[in-house]
Amino acid sequence: MSSHISLVITGSRILTSDSIDPLPATIEIDKNGHISAIFSKISSFDSYTFLEKNQFIDAGNNVVMPGIVDTHVHLNEPGRTDWEGFETGTKAAAAGGVTTIIDMPLNSIPPTTTVNNLMQKTDAAKGKCWVDVGFYGGNDLVPLINAGVKGFKGFLIDSGVDEFPCVNEQDGQNSVFMFHAEMELVNGDNKSQEISDEILSCYDRFHQSRPQSLEINAITLISRLAKEYNTVRSHIVHLSAANAIDIIRKSKSDGVPLSVETCFHYLSLSAEEVPLGRTDFKCAPPVREKTNQEKLWQALLDGTIDFVVSDHSPCTLDLKFLDEKPEDRDFLKAWGGISTLQFGLPVLWTEAKKRGCSFHNLTTWLSKNTAKHVGLQEKKGDLKVGYDADIVIWDPEKTFEATPYMGRTFYGVVKQTIVRGNIVYNAENGGIIDTPYGDLLV
Ligand SMILES: [Zn+2]
Repeated sequence: MSSHISLVITGSRILTSDSIDPLPATIEIDKNGHISAIFSKISSFDSYTFLEKNQFIDAGNNVVMPGIVDTHVHLNEPGRTDWEGFETGTKAAAAGGVTTIIDMPLNSIPPTTTVNNLMQKTDAAKGKCWVDVGFYGGNDLVPLINAGVKGFKGFLIDSGVDEFPCVNEQDGQNSVFMFHAEMELVNGDNKSQEISDEILSCYDRFHQSRPQSLEINAITLISRLAKEYNTVRSHIVHLSAANAIDIIRKSKSDGVPLSVETCFHYLSLSAEEVPLGRTDFKCAPPVREKTNQEKLWQALLDGTIDFVVSDHSPCTLDLKFLDEKPEDRDFLKAWGGISTLQFGLPVLWTEAKKRGCSFHNLTTWLSKNTAKHVGLQEKKGDLKVGYDADIVIWDPEKTFEATPYMGRTFYGVVKQTIVRGNIVYNAENGGIIDTPYGDLLV
């Protein structure tokens, strides 16, 4: 029985597929990186003396969960590697308990809009991935599906980069799509407002320029198209506007194939608390009021929102004007994008814990539903025999202070991250390992 085992994890709080609460268990992992057996008891090294010491992990009272599958990440290599490339991005993922990421088709140059461009992406990624990486595409639909992309992304508003144009209503009629759901109506009265406030560094100036109505316009259109062309699922990325939730709820209850994600920052930050000049909190759609955040939480808890992702989208400091004095930073001109890949788990858990959520909730929002969204539900997002041994071991009671998050204290410290049976991050033994074990999921 022994020779095929490459790693064993035992502990008192393991969240397997069968359990709602973490329970005592032992997981055996084979040499192919798959979970080969799960026993509902704690084991000791004495039963595995044929293994080396470092092949036996006693997780103790730490929680053992499926690794996080973050299906909305911008790695900007090639072309904008200094914003974030495969090496830096996937190392951050590994340190945060994320075992799979799906890369968005922008903001690399070229964007992932053709098979050729996808090949440039995968060439750039080879040997630089510490976790598994899949890809979305845009535009060139059928050939890109055949080449292995996991979905498509379209914008109904200016994407912010010239090489990725926005789609119009016509394009939406024959495509499967993920939508950046903000849209100005051509003849409508709810264009983004012109803001005259002269305090450049005030967050509210930007916040007011992207009102909820932009999201409501887009989501109304997407819901209508999704109902009409119901053979493919439409997906709304990074929902921020809680006032659009009723439209989504109605569509879903009518059986329209529609899914929705929101992001860590919308569930954790609020507009009221963004200090002057903190352009690192600028993203689109914007972080909104505290009352809005509570409604997003309700929609997540009742299942209207399917899952939570990072929309990790870094850039260089100068594009955020972070090299200038806070009072000189123009919120309207700063690049929009928040970097949360490494901290998603503690950011979400800290808020979830206050609301009495379970580890089962967490794993549903972070792993199970995201894996399903990109068609990986048969091998990732769950701890089950036959599945990839993608695992995060973390201490949900331990706290730490995160400087980028305004010095807030968060619950949840990642101890070890395991990708297909390989320990890629070990907090107590050197952090990130040297070898990039990540696979390209194409
Ligand atoms: Zn994004």
